[in-house]
Amino acid sequence: VRLCQFRERRIGLVQGESVRDVTACLEELSPPRYPFPPGDALIAALPQLASLLPELAARSPPMPLSQVQLASPVANPSKIIGAPVNYRRHLQEVRADPALHHRQQIEEIHRAGLFLKATSSLIGPDRPIRIRHPERRTDHEVELAVVIGTECDRVSRTDALRCVAGYCIGLDITVRGPEERSLRKSVDTYTVLGPWMVTADELGDPADLALSLTVDGELRQSARTSELILDVAALIELASSYYRLWPGDVILTGTPAGVGPLVAGNRLVASIEHIGSMTVAVAAA
Ligand code: MN
Repeated sequence: VRLCQFRERRIGLVQGESVRDVTACLEELSPPRYPFPPGDALIAALPQLASLLPELAARSPPMPLSQVQLASPVANPSKIIGAPVNYRRHLQEVRADPALHHRQQIEEIHRAGLFLKATSSLIGPDRPIRIRHPERRTDHEVELAVVIGTECDRVSRTDALRCVAGYCIGLDITVRGPEERSLRKSVDTYTVLGPWMVTADELGDPADLALSLTVDGELRQSARTSELILDVAALIELASSYYRLWPGDVILTGTPAGVGPLVAGNRLVASIEHIGSMTVAVAAA
């Protein structure tokens, strides 16, 4: 299933080049009571709702995808988790040491750890990335984004993929500079998720997906998830060894080589095999 959210606050099922409105599935959610549980209630309920979706979709007329404004497919992540140097060539770019062996690479990422981005930085492709500090360099990072589906804690690699609701394309936008990563990556609009979430059962194994990013038509990043140093299961194991994961939590798996600067007026096209493509504008703040 390809589940999207679109303006204004609609839930959609993507089928080929069209979307069918399945917002009525929200009526099946039990009404939340204060204090609301962390995370995304729709994603948490997806296993129960999945059988309803085809029926709801059949009752709703198809709309062309090109006519809807796609929002983030995750509404309320409790955490947006990032992996800093998780692609072989990007690590070499950062460390300027092509001779790093795989074991050293794993040590390097364990040393670097994971970071958190403010959840308020999250947008979908319906909104532009707004460059907040134009006097500083702001970089694009295209990444496979993993959406957690079930509450989980201290998960082993072997069980990790069972906790995944689905996958989408992520952009981890970063102001370069000396401050903590979490500050430089938490600017409003500096996390983009889209164009929809492909559920884990539909996508299958995330271990070898092509991903790419162009800026104004120029190819900047191109790699395969097979080049990840810590794969999706290892990232879930690492993250959940520190904190409980909740439905809707997002893990940005890291970016490959080729990060580069963005300026207002740029147009990004990010693509991941078996997920799709999204176009995102860059604007002044
Ligand atoms: Mn990143």
